[in-house]
Amino acid sequence: MATKYVYFFGEGKAEGRADMKNLLGGKGANLAEMVNVGIPVPPGFTITTEICTEYYENKGKYPPELKQSVEKSVARVEKIMGMGFGDPVNPLLFSVRSGARSSMPGMMETVLNIGLTSQTIPALIAKTQNPRFVYDAYRRLIMMYSDVVMEKAAGIEVEEGRGVRLQLEHLMNRMKQVRGTKSDTDLTAEDLQALCEQFKAKVKEVLGKEFPDDPWQQLWGGIGAVFQSWNGKRAISYRRIEGIPDSWGTAVNVQTMVFGNMGDSSATGVAFSRNPATGDNHFYGEWLPNAQGEDVVAGIRTPNPLNEDTKSEQNRHLPSLETAMPEVYKELDAIRLKLEKHYRDMQDIEFTIQEGRLWMLQCRVGKRTGTAALNMAMDMVAEKLIARADAVMRVSPAQLDEMLHPIVDPAAEKSASVLAKGLPAGPGGAYGQIVFTANDAVEWHKRGKKVILVREETNPEDVEGMRAAVGILTARGGMTSHAALVARGWGKCCIVGCAALKIHAQVKNMTVGDKVFNEGDFITLNGTRGYVYAGQLGMIDATENPRFVEFMQYVDQFRKLKVRTNADTPEDAAKALSFGAEGIGLFRTEHMFYGKNSEEPLFRLRKMIISKNEAERRAALDELYPYVKRDIKATLEVMDGLPVTIRLLDPPLHEFVPNREDERAKLAESLNISLEEFSKRADALHESNPMMGHRGVRLGVTYPEVTEMQVRAIFESTAELLQAGKKVLPEIMVPVVCNRAELDHQKVIVDKVYKEVCEKYGLKKIEYLYGTMIEIPRAALAAGRIAERAEFFSYGTNDLTQMGFGFSRDDIGGFVPDYIAKKILPADPFNILDQECIGELIDIGIKRGRATRPNLKVGICGEHGGEPSSVEFCHRVGMNYVSCSPFRVPIARLALAHAAIKETKARAVVAKKAARKKVAAKKAAPKKAAAKKVVKPVKKAAKKAAKPAKKAAAKRPAKKAAKKGKK
Ligand code: PEP
Ligand code: MG
Repeated sequence: MATKYVYFFGEGKAEGRADMKNLLGGKGANLAEMVNVGIPVPPGFTITTEICTEYYENKGKYPPELKQSVEKSVARVEKIMGMGFGDPVNPLLFSVRSGARSSMPGMMETVLNIGLTSQTIPALIAKTQNPRFVYDAYRRLIMMYSDVVMEKAAGIEVEEGRGVRLQLEHLMNRMKQVRGTKSDTDLTAEDLQALCEQFKAKVKEVLGKEFPDDPWQQLWGGIGAVFQSWNGKRAISYRRIEGIPDSWGTAVNVQTMVFGNMGDSSATGVAFSRNPATGDNHFYGEWLPNAQGEDVVAGIRTPNPLNEDTKSEQNRHLPSLETAMPEVYKELDAIRLKLEKHYRDMQDIEFTIQEGRLWMLQCRVGKRTGTAALNMAMDMVAEKLIARADAVMRVSPAQLDEMLHPIVDPAAEKSASVLAKGLPAGPGGAYGQIVFTANDAVEWHKRGKKVILVREETNPEDVEGMRAAVGILTARGGMTSHAALVARGWGKCCIVGCAALKIHAQVKNMTVGDKVFNEGDFITLNGTRGYVYAGQLGMIDATENPRFVEFMQYVDQFRKLKVRTNADTPEDAAKALSFGAEGIGLFRTEHMFYGKNSEEPLFRLRKMIISKNEAERRAALDELYPYVKRDIKATLEVMDGLPVTIRLLDPPLHEFVPNREDERAKLAESLNISLEEFSKRADALHESNPMMGHRGVRLGVTYPEVTEMQVRAIFESTAELLQAGKKVLPEIMVPVVCNRAELDHQKVIVDKVYKEVCEKYGLKKIEYLYGTMIEIPRAALAAGRIAERAEFFSYGTNDLTQMGFGFSRDDIGGFVPDYIAKKILPADPFNILDQECIGELIDIGIKRGRATRPNLKVGICGEHGGEPSSVEFCHRVGMNYVSCSPFRVPIARLALAHAAIKETKARAVVAKKAARKKVAAKKAAPKKAAAKKVVKPVKKAAKKAAKPAKKAAAKRPAKKAAKKGKK
């Protein structure tokens, strides 16, 4: 069968569906779906994403069949509308829009009003009796087409500020000046007609070509430009940021034009079925009378509020659609409810009202802030619109992360005075130094500065600067402006439409009233309220939302793995507990030698390191012992019966040797040696490759007394806490192990100290586990033998990645960014686990370890333990827990719930397919047999088919053991 390149929609029937996003793009698939559910959509057709791919593969050529398919589809639209494309009596106009699988707001091109020519213009004027509208549409076509098709798609590079569109905008501004008008809508038909002539002359002057006067040339130009824009600079950079593959391509939607600029009974707008910033169940949006869609998004005019409920300080004075066109509003509200019920999610919609008649131009699942995502999900469960599992899936780990981000301290805010107010477009709070261009934002960010990007309004060329900034502030634009959409998608603090700002980007300053702010001055944004403050205000955590706790309870109903934390102080442990940690997966002993109050233990550690013989070392260790015991005991106590994995020392020794003369002298004196002798010993510690040097278990092998001291600290703290009636569950973890013999060697020391401590405290036994980190590739391969001794494994994926890739974890800054830019690696493997190979090592280790010891407890404590995709991998390979920094605990909990829900859903799909196959097989069987058996309902068959899948899953050794090993 020939490939179908074009999918038609219109007159209550569409060839596509909502689930065809890969082929039709999000916009095309949803237009089709809306038509199928009986919502008024102007007819049109979608050219598939496959054409985009072929277009690029064949150096800008389309498959030959495309021309005919497009012509046929145009003819179908003409028939439905009773109009003709290019017709000199009743002309039909088209819009051409992009539509990728995943929404890329404003990153690709759109051309409206295609089909306006010297032939059709008089016809349209005669038909509408509205020359002003026709010339307004024509000037828009010239502006968009010359910019998008004749300049950008033609690959013409222009200097900043010299683009054809901007030059046309200058002409328009001049016309407004001459006429003494402020708004575009004040220009008359004659003004606009004259302007169109000026525009065409300017296009010829700037681009050296006539503006095309043929409708088909315009249509194919528009289609080509949309495909070209898939590989435009800003689309590429957006894809990099969002991780959208280049291979997806965009679809092109060609749709009958309906006009919101036909006069005062016409309008255009964008709306959300619920508030995307807060999640409130209120219809929320903006509209502009007598305008086309681009006017709302571009922030050229301040849009009106959709209804009375959602008026804000900025738009209170403007009439709402609810009051201006009550009948249309009612119809729109009914469509909003229909769409929410159909899609069972919040929808972002675009509509146009042409002379009182409502048309829907787009619907899609709306982007929302983390807070809104959570509130909506919880509301929709209460409304019985979705199940709890759906609610859990509705909040992404990144959105949860956003909720854990700081907000402006309300106390600080109370005592500060608001500098200016705008629309609250992106959540949370941020303070930073002002910059006025996207390039400066990127540059300053590279220099480690926190910046607030201040712009008149943002456009897609600003995305990299927006990304680099901690907050975004614009003087113009509404809640659906580019800045608002992008910031909300990223969960970035953002305020738009802050009209009090007078920005002078050329001289890099802005004024607010009589106050002047220069580049580099600090301001603070409260993106949740839309308030701007001068200077730096304090920030606090944003976890007060009571629904957060309730939501996390849902999350915990689904996840299968435990979540622990990496914490080395009682404070961090307590913080992690408040985030839901169920134990400590990594207590790094050496962390007591960094940072706050570290001077005294550090001095003793240094003494131990510089010691030359066992006697000297033991003396230093005796001095160090109380500090180690104090820290371990305090953390064990806070964890109150939850497991605590304490890792034996893994310090890069030379890093602890002081360089300062006075410190060296003090240590030498304390050790009773000369400064020369000190230097000699310090030099001897030098290693060429310390990451692979005398660290981890190797230290305990050469200096058993170091292990002995730590193990004593662990057991004695435990014994004392047990005697005080506390529950304690220590786990001793040996790092940087490569074979079982190392563990055997250390176990002798552990057993000896264990016995001594039990005797000293009169205890019969102390419950504890003895295990190891798996962070060397050899250890993963030797896991079967290592598990003969180890009762648990904890994957140290920082070192496993380092040694698996052969990339020094401290030096990747020099080359990994290039690897990513040149697509040699998909991501930084120290951030996102390389599931392909490091993952295989993990999987091998788990399988081999559990073959030896079926109840082997397995976790992860490398940085990947808090990264969502890596955490999902940990679920799939059957670990018992993940461990991560305190702030990432909720994120890991959510990622694990997602993994479990996805797995259940995938099994259900497999079961359903199997059931369908069975039914089909029965139908195909000889009549007699079929007559007996096919009576069984499909549901039962599905259940039955699900059973083998469940059994097979339960049989997986990893899963089975995972359950057993869980504490
Ligand atoms: C690891 O290697 O993954 C690990 C957790 O240990 P560290 O980062 O302390 O080397
Ligand atoms: Mg390590």
